[in-house]
Amino acid sequence: MHWADVLADELIKDDRKHVLATGITPSGPIHIGNMREILTTDAVYRCLLEKGVKGKLIYVADDFDPLRKVYPYLSKTYEKYVGMPISDIPCPCGKHKSYADHFLISFLNSLKEIGVKPKIYRANEMYKKGEFNKAIQIALDNTDKIKDIIQKISKRELPKDWIPFNIRCEKCKKLTSTKAILYEYPFIEYRCDCGYEGEVDIRKGGVGKLPWRVDWPARWKMLGITFEPFGKDLGTTGGARDTGVKIVEEIYDYPAPKYTVYEFIMLKGKGAMHSSKGTALSAEEMLKMTPPEVLRFLLMNNQPSKHLVFDSGLGLLNLVDEYDKEERVFFGKEEAIKGMKDLKKVYELSQPYDIAKKIPLQLPYRHLVTLVQIEEKWSDTKKILLRTNQIPKDISHEDDEHLKQRAEHAKYWLDNFAPDMVKFEVKKKVPKLNLNEEQKKFLSSLLINISKKSWNAENIHNAIYETSEKIKIPIKTCFNTIYQIILGQEKGPRAGYFLSNLDKDFVLERIKEAIK
Ligand SMILES: [Zn+2]
Ligand SMILES: [Zn+2]
Repeated sequence: MHWADVLADELIKDDRKHVLATGITPSGPIHIGNMREILTTDAVYRCLLEKGVKGKLIYVADDFDPLRKVYPYLSKTYEKYVGMPISDIPCPCGKHKSYADHFLISFLNSLKEIGVKPKIYRANEMYKKGEFNKAIQIALDNTDKIKDIIQKISKRELPKDWIPFNIRCEKCKKLTSTKAILYEYPFIEYRCDCGYEGEVDIRKGGVGKLPWRVDWPARWKMLGITFEPFGKDLGTTGGARDTGVKIVEEIYDYPAPKYTVYEFIMLKGKGAMHSSKGTALSAEEMLKMTPPEVLRFLLMNNQPSKHLVFDSGLGLLNLVDEYDKEERVFFGKEEAIKGMKDLKKVYELSQPYDIAKKIPLQLPYRHLVTLVQIEEKWSDTKKILLRTNQIPKDISHEDDEHLKQRAEHAKYWLDNFAPDMVKFEVKKKVPKLNLNEEQKKFLSSLLINISKKSWNAENIHNAIYETSEKIKIPIKTCFNTIYQIILGQEKGPRAGYFLSNLDKDFVLERIKEAIK
C-alpha cells in the first residue's frame, strides 16, 4: 500500500472531521523542505477524500513571529526591525504589503500550479482578531505547569520570571525585549529593554504572542488539527513536538494530531546551493525549474522518511524521463520495470489536477531542452514541432498546454541551473571561424550528401556518418565542425536531431558560407 494510504487509514480510525495542517514561518525564502511537508500533507488529504472521509487542508503562515536577525540577504537597515513581527515589517523589494508577504505570496501562488489549494491562515490576523485570546488566558493560568513541562522534557532551564507569553512592547513594537512584572487577569504589567514600562490587556488581540512551544499546541486545538507532519528537527527528543503533545493534552485538553516525520531534501549538482541570485535554492525555484507533475512524482514515489537528493543539474532530466516512463506504464504502453512500487497510486498522486483519460502527448524532455534554445517563444517552438511532424497537426488543447508548461520549466532550468554543457545559442551569422582544409572538405562533402535528402533527424545523422567514413575524417572532428559553424562552440546537442529542427535552407546556406 502507498504510504499516503497507510497514513490516511490511520486517521480514519478516528471518526471525525479531519483537518490536515501544514505551515511555515515566512521569515526568508521558503525552504524546499517545506515543499515536502506540503506535498506529504496533500497526498494524505487526497487519500482521505478518496476514501469518502471529510477533510480540510490548511496552511498556517506564522507571520506574527518576530524577525530573529538580519539575514545575509537583508540590508543592514533591517537591524532596527529585529524582534518585530514579520507581518509588521516593510518588505525588502517595496512591492509587498509586508516582509512576510514578500516571501509568502509568490510561493502561495506557485502552489496552485502544483495542484495544492489549502485554506490559508495567517497567525498575525488570528492574533490581532483575538482568536488566540482564550488560548493565551489558559496558558497564563497554567504558567507553572507549562514551565514544568518544558523544563522537564526539553531539559532546558527557563528564567524564574518566565511566562508563556511574549508581550509586544507598545512603544518599540518588539516581541523579544519585554519582561513581565505582574500578571493579574486580564492585565500584564511589563518592562521593555527600550525603557518603556506599561500594561497590556490580554482581552485585546495582538498584544503579544505565545512562545513557539505553546503556540503550536494551542493552534492544534483552536483549528481542530488532526494531522500535521514535521521535519525531523522538530521531532527530536525533547523537541517542540514532544513538549507540544504534553501541553495540548494536559493544558488544552485535546489529543495531539497524528503525524509523520519527513526527512530533508538535500541538494546536488552545479548551482544547487546557490542559484544565479546568490541565495539558497528555495521551494519556489524548485517548482519553477521542475514540471509540477515531476516534482510531485519525486515526493510521491518516496516515503517521507526517505532521504532525498534533488539534483538540479542533469539529474533533473533523468527525473523527468523516469516520470515519463512511469506514465507510459500507467497507460499500458510499456511494461513495468523492477523497482516500480505502487505505480498506479504514485502516478495518480503525481497529477496536480485531474488524471488524464488517455496518455498525454509525450515529447522527450531532452528534445524540449534543445528546442527551447532554438526558438524563444512557445508559438515558434510549436511551429518547428509541427513542421517536423513531432506533434500532430490537430494537437489537443490539453497537450498543447502541457508541452508549453514543460517548455517554460525547461527554459527556467536552462537560465538558472543547467550545466554549460547543455547550453547553446544558434548564431544568427557565421561565427568567426578558423576551419582547416580537412573540416572544409567534410562540409563540402556533407553539403552534397544532405542537399538531396529529405530533412529528418535520421537522414542527417546517417549523412554525417557516411561522409565521415567516405572521406576518412574522424567523426569527432565532423561533429565539432558542425557545432562550430552553427553555435560557435565545440559541443552541442545530438547533431541529427538538432539540425533537423533548424530550417534546411538555413543549414545549407550556413555550410556554404562557412566554406567560402
Ligand atoms: Zn517584496
Ligand atoms: Zn520597547
